[in-house]
Amino acid sequence: MMKILEDCTSCAACEPECPNGAISHDEAADLFVIDPMRCTECVGEHDEPQCVEVCPLDCIVPDPARAETRDQLEAKHARLHAD
Ligand code: SF4
Repeated sequence: MMKILEDCTSCAACEPECPNGAISHDEAADLFVIDPMRCTECVGEHDEPQCVEVCPLDCIVPDPARAETRDQLEAKHARLHAD
């Protein structure tokens, strides 16, 4: 999955681009955060992570602590869009 670094200035460019509704604003920290249960690195929807494409500060990066295989990301995408 991807994570948003503390450099985030809450510009909100990424939030509407996520096909999984994984991005939300953390009011307390005043930065945007990514829900690990919903981020598929855009697998199943786009060739590239859409949040990374639009972030003007390049502060969205892969999270090495939560690395997932392509199969895991595809399975997550299937679960999220099962309905
Ligand atoms: Fe959403 Fe894709 Fe960014 Fe993950 S990589 S948070 S699925 S836009």
